[in-house]
Amino acid sequence: MGYAAGVTATPSVMALPSDPAQRRVELFPEATDEQWADWKWHQRHAVRDARRLAGLLPLTQDERDGLDETAAIFRLGISPYYLTLVDPGHPLCPVRMQAIPVKAEARVRPGELADPLGEDPHRPVEAIVHKYPDRVLLLATDSCSVYCRHCTRRRITKGGEAELSRSALERGLDYIRATPAVRDVLISGGDPLLLSDERLEQLLTPLRAIPHVEMIRIGTRMPVTLPMRVTEALATLLRRYAPLFVVTHFNHPKEITKEAREACERLVDHGVPVENQTVLMRRLNSDARIITELNHACLKMRVRPYYLHQMDVAEGCEHLRTPLQKGVEIIGELRGWTTGMAVPHLAVDLPGGGGKVTLQPDYVTERRPNETVLRNYRGEPYVYPEPEAQDCTCPYDEVWQRR
Ligand SMILES: *Cc1c(COP(=O)(O)O)cnc(C)c1O
Ligand code: SF4
Repeated sequence: MGYAAGVTATPSVMALPSDPAQRRVELFPEATDEQWADWKWHQRHAVRDARRLAGLLPLTQDERDGLDETAAIFRLGISPYYLTLVDPGHPLCPVRMQAIPVKAEARVRPGELADPLGEDPHRPVEAIVHKYPDRVLLLATDSCSVYCRHCTRRRITKGGEAELSRSALERGLDYIRATPAVRDVLISGGDPLLLSDERLEQLLTPLRAIPHVEMIRIGTRMPVTLPMRVTEALATLLRRYAPLFVVTHFNHPKEITKEAREACERLVDHGVPVENQTVLMRRLNSDARIITELNHACLKMRVRPYYLHQMDVAEGCEHLRTPLQKGVEIIGELRGWTTGMAVPHLAVDLPGGGGKVTLQPDYVTERRPNETVLRNYRGEPYVYPEPEAQDCTCPYDEVWQRR
């Protein structure tokens, strides 16, 4: 169902979601199956300007203004695959909201920051963010297959930083090598899986060779936005660097398509565990029913829900932020009501650089000298008697640590 230019879409109450396979036929009839399965084809054919987008999709006035006003602020980029998930008949389609800017994105509200997580003061070298004692973020590239409208690291992904050069990555590796406290390296960006298999190996091989690096994580949206990137060859490559975890970013069950499922299962089948981080966004997924369905769909493809992120206080994202209490409420509607593995940690990355903290409903209702009163997930009171002895030191640990 189309609508005239300039008219805001008023979706019919009875409308069904659009069908991605049908949309592919409508939007990219020329693409052969072989091309469609090739992530590089999608990269070459990504929609990167407003005119081309307008030719593919009836846009609302809000989106037209948004495209116009954000053009100089943040990149536009939508892979053909991800575009087929956009519902042309509904302006609040969750994929649409993540891919197409609206006017509000061009607006900076009081308190919003270009560097909301205060990362820049924690960059000992260009490619490293070192904020926590034992782990670092390694920024491998400034590019992505889709530029998420909710990206809070857009000061990097907008491209102003220039491509992180090989020498910047070299200096990043040198920093990790010289910093024995770093036992966990989270490779991020941008999207590290936009690097070719060869470049990835050139990064992973020296990283794995650092004795104190115990584990590696790769933060990527490819399983969501361009699942064709997750080839057999890539899964095999990543497995060789175990323990290596892929952390992906599904925000709505609509994104869990057959292709996305195959990509995640391919990784897991090859021995690469996959975790998911969701960003909680107002009117997009700010509902316990949606988060429950999303997390169930993740578990069905063996992806563990890890974090539910409170939206960072980043420039141009206010319209997507939920009140803190909303996330707490959602966790309260999951904990106890469904599989514990489907309940993520609700993380708030503190504005200004304090790092992440997690929130959850308060189940403690009263603390007495010898007992604590809690409520269960249904709100019913239960008493936990505190033990008499309270010394929690572990004497054998002295022995154990000598091994
Ligand atoms: C989120 C984050 C990490 C990883 O945090 P975990 O809680 O271990 O997942 C590491 N460094 C930075 C700068 C981060 O923002
Ligand atoms: S994939 Fe990640 S880094 Fe890239 S635009 Fe989306 S949120 Fe930002």
